[in-house]
Amino acid sequence: MKYTTDSELASKLVELVGEGKVADQEYILASYSMDVSPEPRRRPDVVVRPFSTEEVSKIVRFAFENSIPVVPTGGRTSMCGASIPQRGGILLDMTGMQKVIELNKEEMYVTVECGITWGHLISILKEEGFKLGFRGPYSGTAATVGGSISSNSIGYGSCRWGQAPAGLLGLTVVLPNGNIARTGSQALIYANPFNRYNMGPDLTGLFCGDHGTLGVKTEATLSIHLIPEHVEHLAYGFEDVEKACQFFCDVQKHEVAEDIVLIGETGSLEYIIEGFNDMFPGLNAVVIVIIEENCSGAARAKAELVAGLASKHGARSIGDLYAKIHWTFGMFEDIHPFFQLGMWTPECHNLPSHRIAEKILEFKKLYTKLRLREKGYQPVIAAMANNNNSVSFVAHVYYDVRSSESKRTALDFWEQGMERDLLEGGVPYWSGTSWLRHLRGKLDPGYVELYRAVKQALDPKGILHPGMEIA
Ligand SMILES: Cc1cc2nc3c(=O)[nH]c(=O)nc-3n(C[C@H](O)[C@H](O)[C@H](O)COP(=O)(O)OP(=O)(O)OC[C@H]3O[C@@H](n4cnc5c(N)ncnc54)[C@H](O)[C@@H]3O)c2cc1C
Repeated sequence: MKYTTDSELASKLVELVGEGKVADQEYILASYSMDVSPEPRRRPDVVVRPFSTEEVSKIVRFAFENSIPVVPTGGRTSMCGASIPQRGGILLDMTGMQKVIELNKEEMYVTVECGITWGHLISILKEEGFKLGFRGPYSGTAATVGGSISSNSIGYGSCRWGQAPAGLLGLTVVLPNGNIARTGSQALIYANPFNRYNMGPDLTGLFCGDHGTLGVKTEATLSIHLIPEHVEHLAYGFEDVEKACQFFCDVQKHEVAEDIVLIGETGSLEYIIEGFNDMFPGLNAVVIVIIEENCSGAARAKAELVAGLASKHGARSIGDLYAKIHWTFGMFEDIHPFFQLGMWTPECHNLPSHRIAEKILEFKKLYTKLRLREKGYQPVIAAMANNNNSVSFVAHVYYDVRSSESKRTALDFWEQGMERDLLEGGVPYWSGTSWLRHLRGKLDPGYVELYRAVKQALDPKGILHPGMEIA
C-alpha cells in the first residue's frame, strides 16, 4: 500500500526512509492502537514500516535525537497489551523485514529478518529438509520471530526445545541511540553466527523478553534440525483430570516428547472438534503427546513407553485425529475456533508441572462458585509443556464483547486471577500492561536495580517502548 502523509513528523520520516513506508491517517493509527488483549487502546502518532536494519537505525537515531517514543512491533498478536504504544510516538511495524538472509546447511542455522512469521519460516525450511526446535506460539501464522523472542513465548515444540529464545544463536539489534550491535559468535567480526555463548557475557539474553524496551531486533539466527523421518501422534482421554495431570508430568519427566498439551475442560474440546463429547462421552481431559525421531525404532520405543504410562494412569486412547489436528493439519489454528465464544481474558503463566491439577481444580471451583458458565461465559483450560518440567498454564474465560456487564465481570475475574497467580508462585513469561500492574512491588529489589541500570545506560532518554519497562 502507498501511504499518504500529513504531519510534520511523518514528513521527516519520509525524508529519512523514502515514500510508501510511513502512514499517519487516522484509520491506520486506529488499527495500530490495539493488540489481542482486552487492554485499552492507545494510538501512535505515526506508523513506519522499515525494510532494512539501516532504515531502522536511521529512524531510531532520529527519534533518540528528538526524544520521540519508538515502539517496535511484530504481528501485534500480544495478549497482554505489550504491542500497544502507551505514550504515542513512532510505531515501528517490523513485518516488512521478513527475508531469510542465510540458510547454512553445514553449520545448521538460519539467519532471518525479525519480522518473518513462524509459519512462513517453517514452510521455507521444510522445503529444504529442516525444522526449527521451538516452532512458534499458537499464533505462528501472524506472530513474528522478533515478537516471540521479545516476549519469551512458549508454544509448539517447547516441551523438548524450550521457549522462543532457547534456539537463538545471536541477534542484530538497533540500540536506542540508533547504533547497531551484533551478539553471539558474530560479535567477532570474522566469525559466522553459529554459536551463542562465547568470549564474554551472553548479551543475546539481555534482549530476550525485553518487550522491545532495550533494543529493536532486526535479525536473528536460530538453530535448525533435520526434518524427522518418524512422527507419532498420540492422544489420550481421561475421566479423571488429576490422573491426566499425573500422566502429563510422567511423560514430561521421561523426556520422550517433542510436544505435550493437556486440555482440562470438556467444553473446550467440543469447540476444536464438533461432536467430540458425543464421540467420547465421559471424558474430562485430553492429553496429546507428539514424538519426533530420525530413527523409526526410537520413535516406536518412545511411543510404547508413553502407551505404558497411559495405561498406568487409566487413559483411553482416542485415536490420532486430535493429535494430527494439533501438530500437522491444523498447526497454528487449533485455538481459533474459541473466538466463536467471544473475547478472552488471557492469564497464561509458567508453573512447575506438578501444580497443574491443583490450579485446574482451583479455577473450576471459582467459576463454578461464580456460576460463570450459567451466565454465558465459557472457560478454556490447557497446559503446554515447557522443557524443564514446567508448563504454560492457560485458563481463559471468554466473554460476550457486546455486553458491557459481561465484559466487566470477566475482567474483574481476570484481574483477581492474575493477582492470585503471582501470589501463589506463578510466573508470567510476557509482561505487557496487564501483568505489569500486578508485578509492581513483587519483584526482587536487586533485579529491579539491575534492569533499571541497564535501561538507563542503553536508553537514557527512555525512548524505547515507554510504559512497558519491567521496573
Ligand atoms: C490466537 C493466539 C494464540 C497465541 N498463542 C500463544 C502461545 O501459544 N504462546 C505465546 O507465548 N503467546 C501466544 N500468543 C500471544 C502472542 O501471539 C505471542 O506472544 C507472540 O510471540 C507475539 O509475537 P508478535 O510478533 O505478534 O509480537 P507483538 O505482539 O507485535 O510484540 C510483542 C512484544 O515484542 C516487542 N517486539 C516485537 N517485535 C520486536 C522487535 N523486532 N524488536 C524488539 N521488540 C519487538 C513488542 O514491542 C512487544 O512488547 C497468542 C496470541 C494469539 C492471538
